[in-house]
Amino acid sequence: MKTRMIFVGPPGAGKGSQAKILSEKLNVPHISTGDMFRAHLKNDTKLGLLAKQYINQGLLVPDDVTNDMVKERFNEKDVQNGFILDGYPRNPLQAQFLDTLLKEHGMSLDIIINVTSDDEIIIKRITGRRSCPTCGAVYHIENNPPKVFGICDKDQTPLVQRKDDTEETVVKRLKVYYEETFPLIEYYKNKGLLVDIDGNGEILEITEKILEILGA
Ligand code: AMP
Ligand code: ZN
Repeated sequence: MKTRMIFVGPPGAGKGSQAKILSEKLNVPHISTGDMFRAHLKNDTKLGLLAKQYINQGLLVPDDVTNDMVKERFNEKDVQNGFILDGYPRNPLQAQFLDTLLKEHGMSLDIIINVTSDDEIIIKRITGRRSCPTCGAVYHIENNPPKVFGICDKDQTPLVQRKDDTEETVVKRLKVYYEETFPLIEYYKNKGLLVDIDGNGEILEITEKILEILGA
C-alpha cells in the first residue's frame, strides 16, 4: 500500500479534507504546513508572528522558515508509518528540499495526488468555509453545514472564518498557486508519480477513489 504521499492542487480543492480522512483511515500523520503555521499563530510564537504577515496577504511564507519547520517534523517517529503532506511542497525549491530530506531519512515518495478544481468553484468553496478553533473540524455554509448554524457539531465551539479565506485573499492565493505551485505538477509528472483526482464531487466518493489508487 502507498503511504508516503503529497497532496497538491489549488487552495480549496479539498486536499485538506481528504488528507484528514485518509490520515485517520490509514493511521499515518497528516502534515499540513498551513495547519502548523496556524497553530503557531494561535500560540503567538515568534514563527507565528512572522508567518502571519505572509498568510494574511495570501503570500507564501519564506522557504527557509517553511523547510526548517518540515525538517523538524520529520524527526518525529510517526512518519515511519508514512505521511500525508498537504500544502507542502509549494514551489520547486521546497520540492528539492523535500527530496533531500527524504533521502536523509532513507525514504522516497510513493505518490503525488493532484486534486483538481475550477477557480469559480474554489472561490465559492473557500469563502463559504468555516472552521472550529477548538478541534479543527472544517465546514461549509452550504455544502457541509454544521447541525446548528455557526456551531461545531463535535464540541459546540462557535465556528470562525480564516482571515485569508476572504474573496480578495483567495484571488491572490490562486494567483500565487498558478505562478509558484503549478510548476510542481510537471516536476512530479516527469517522475511518474502524479495522479489526478477530480475534486468536484462528494467528499467520501473521492476518498474511496483515492483509497483504491493507494491500494488500501
Ligand atoms: P493552506 O492552509 O495550505 O491553504 O495554507 C495557508 C497559508 O499558509 C498559505 O496561503 C501560505 O501563506 C502559508 N503556507 C502554507 N504552506 C506553505 C508552504 N509550503 N510554503 C509557504 N507558505 C505556506
Ligand atoms: Zn470543534
